[in-house]
Amino acid sequence: MRVWTVANQKGGVGKTTTSVTLGGLAAEHKRVLLLDLDPHGSLTSYFRQDPDTLTRSAYTLFSQRERLGEGAGFVKSLIFATDYPNLDVLPAATSLATLERRALGPDGLGLVVKRALALLADDYDLVIIDTPPLLGVLMVNALAACDELLIPVQTEFLALKGLERMVNTLNMMAKSRRQKLEYTILPALFDRRTQASVSTLRTIRFDHPEHTWAGKIPVDTKLRDASKVGVPPSLYEPESRGVEAYRSLYKWLKKREQNVAQGDTQGAVIGGGV
Ligand code: ADP
Ligand code: MG
Repeated sequence: MRVWTVANQKGGVGKTTTSVTLGGLAAEHKRVLLLDLDPHGSLTSYFRQDPDTLTRSAYTLFSQRERLGEGAGFVKSLIFATDYPNLDVLPAATSLATLERRALGPDGLGLVVKRALALLADDYDLVIIDTPPLLGVLMVNALAACDELLIPVQTEFLALKGLERMVNTLNMMAKSRRQKLEYTILPALFDRRTQASVSTLRTIRFDHPEHTWAGKIPVDTKLRDASKVGVPPSLYEPESRGVEAYRSLYKWLKKREQNVAQGDTQGAVIGGGV
C-alpha cells in the first residue's frame, strides 16, 4: 500500500481537486481510499456526505484511538464506499477542527493516522490524504503517514511566498522522520494567457528544479463542474484538459515509484508532464 499526501497551507490551490482526480484515475486499476483530514470536509461533501453531522469519521480515529489496538475492523467501520468502483472514503467531520488546537504532547497523537492506515495495508493499494491549509496536528499526521507528498501550487505571484514557507516547514518536519520525505510541487491553476502564470511557473521550476513536476495543471472549468455534480473528474469528463494533465501526472508518479522500487534513483528525478 502506498500513501500520498496532498498538502499546502494555502487554501483554494487545488488540494481537494487533486486528491479526488488522482483517486478517480487510480481507481481504474487499484483499490483506493481517500482520507479527508480537512475539518472543512470538502472532499467528504464532494461525495455527498455531510461533515457537520457525521458521527463516524477521521475524528473518531483520534477520539477513540485506544481502539486502534482492536485491529482493522474499527478503522473499516469509519469508511464508506462511494458510487464508484474501487473508491472508498474515510470522511472528515467538522469536529476535526478541535484537534488543531491540541498540542502534540507525548500521547502519540502525531502517529494516529499512520497506525490506522497500517491496519488497512491488505485492503487498499493507494491511500490519498487530503489536508487542511494549516500546519497543525492533522498535517503532522498526514506527513508522518505518507510515502509521497504532493504540493499543488497556484501559478501566481503570491503563492511563491507560501511555497517557501511550506518547504522550510517540511524540511524541519522531515528531520523527525526516519525516512526522507519525497515531495513534488505541482504547478496548478495554470492559465497560459496570463503573464503571472507563465512567469511564476518559470520561477517555481528555477527555484525547485528537482522537486517540480515537469507538467502543469491548467485552469479547466470542467474540474469545477465535476465537483458540483459530485463525480470524479475522470468519469465526468475523461477527455478534458484538466483530466489529461492529471492523468499524465498520475502516470509519472507511478513510473517514478516503480523506478524507486527498482533502486533507480536517477529515474526518480523530474520527467513527464504535459
Ligand atoms: P483546496 O482544496 O486547495 O482548497 P480545491 O481543490 O477545493 O482547493 O479548489 C478550489 C476551487 O477551485 C474549487 O472550486 C475547485 O473546483 C476549483 N479548481 C481547482 N482546480 C481547478 C482547475 N485546475 N481549474 C479550474 N478550477 C479548479
Ligand atoms: Mg480542500
